[in-house]
Amino acid sequence: MSTVSSPIRVTIWSEFRHEKKNPRVAAIYPHGMHQTLAAALGQHPDFLVRTATLDEPEHGLTDAVLDQTDVLTWWGHLAHGEVSDAIVAKVRTRVLEGMGLIVLHSAHYSKIFKSLMGDTCSLSWREANDKERLWVINRAHPITKGLGPFIELPSEEMYGEPFGIPTPDELIFISWFTGGEVFRSGATWRRGHGNIFYFRPGHETYPTYHNPQIQLVIANSVRWAHSGVRIKDAGPNLAPLEPLPLDPEATQRSTIGHGR
Ligand code: ZN
Repeated sequence: MSTVSSPIRVTIWSEFRHEKKNPRVAAIYPHGMHQTLAAALGQHPDFLVRTATLDEPEHGLTDAVLDQTDVLTWWGHLAHGEVSDAIVAKVRTRVLEGMGLIVLHSAHYSKIFKSLMGDTCSLSWREANDKERLWVINRAHPITKGLGPFIELPSEEMYGEPFGIPTPDELIFISWFTGGEVFRSGATWRRGHGNIFYFRPGHETYPTYHNPQIQLVIANSVRWAHSGVRIKDAGPNLAPLEPLPLDPEATQRSTIGHGR
């Protein structure tokens, strides 16, 4: 990556409720998991990182912030229903225009992910200290750069198939859990001009976001999701670039003249 290119502007959005309510979670993420992720991503000189949380005005996602966001990461769980539909609509529009979106763990049920997927996004789950082994099934993909054949997390919540998602454009990870389940734990989609990555690990009662390999995947996914474009939706009525072959009927229509 060239050192002269402008940094990728990353906004880390988090609900930030479990950390305030549950001392177990606060012990793992004393300043909130968004701050842990911000510190990890902030190590990369090609990122410019900010955070935003649910209880800030406009959930911290004002037009000014969204204008300056190339890639948005999203973690939510308890309070999906408290996220304003108007903000979700704005974020969705930005994604379609080219903003990258990284959807983390229980954000599978977030309004923004469900609206972009157009599906239930449901799954089965169990909170019982399963070991999770995330198999890297796309080893040439930029999101898996620097990883070995798998990532192993000694304790995580289990998510199991069937996962109610549209068939991914690319499947990056499949997880296996001690209880025997499997799950499509890393997957990508393109919506409009925007790149979307769903990444499963990150239950709040485990120190998953302190894991260097998990941090590496998220950093890789930010670079992958950065499209560098912001293209407003428009349905232009185009004048031809070349002279059109003579079409008597078209000439007649344009003489009669209708609309534009
Ligand atoms: Zn969870």
